[in-house]
Amino acid sequence: MSDISRNLELVKKNIVDACARVGRDANEVTLIAVSKTKPIEALKEAYDAGARDFGENKVQELSDKIDKMPEDITWHMIGHLQRNKVKYIAGRVGLIHSVDSYRLAEEINIQAKKKNCVIPILIEVNYAGEESKFGIPKDETLELIKEISELDSVHIVGLMTIAPFVENPEENRAIFRGMKQLSVDINQENIDNVEMKILSMGMTNDYIVAVEEGATHVRVGTGIFGARDYSKKN
Ligand SMILES: *Cc1c(COP(=O)(O)O)cnc(C)c1O
Repeated sequence: MSDISRNLELVKKNIVDACARVGRDANEVTLIAVSKTKPIEALKEAYDAGARDFGENKVQELSDKIDKMPEDITWHMIGHLQRNKVKYIAGRVGLIHSVDSYRLAEEINIQAKKKNCVIPILIEVNYAGEESKFGIPKDETLELIKEISELDSVHIVGLMTIAPFVENPEENRAIFRGMKQLSVDINQENIDNVEMKILSMGMTNDYIVAVEEGATHVRVGTGIFGARDYSKKN
């Protein structure tokens, strides 16, 4: 077994165990293999080991990898998205996790119409209010969702957050719990064209805690593919 397939099995087992601890069905949780900076061979190994959801954070790299990988993959755009690049991924990705402004949603709506499709999106919440991070402050989330819900070619299906980097993942438990509550509260508003069925939260360092607190999608890179090397990049 390669390292990648072994890692993948371990992460899956951790998800199953976390679900068991809190009485959740592990089938509710989608593991996204975050393959940014990794070569196609690494993605193919993960694919051969069963991975069908992949996450990337750059439009060009995402687009190149879509061209080179099998068609039965669901691609997740998890990185900050510039409006002028939406056209390159519209209709090619299963889910955009990182929508944090009306203007971006509006552009996604325009490009979706051109491709004759409806694009599912998540609203990225900067729950901890970190200055360095993208995402809408939690207090403004409902208002933004109401505005975006008027656009008929984007469909809000949930929320996403990137929790702070912490030594002990327990430190992020309150954030994950707060995100779950926010999604329940928004769901109760019964807004047309809005579903709160996806909660994308948890990365290598803290996905186990995120699953215990209700994550439906965890985004794991290092834990599957090993450490990233940015030094070789362009
Ligand atoms: C890189 C990245 C991840 C994966 O991070 P790891 O710590 O390597 O698991 C998850 N989510 C987003 C948005 C990322 O950019």
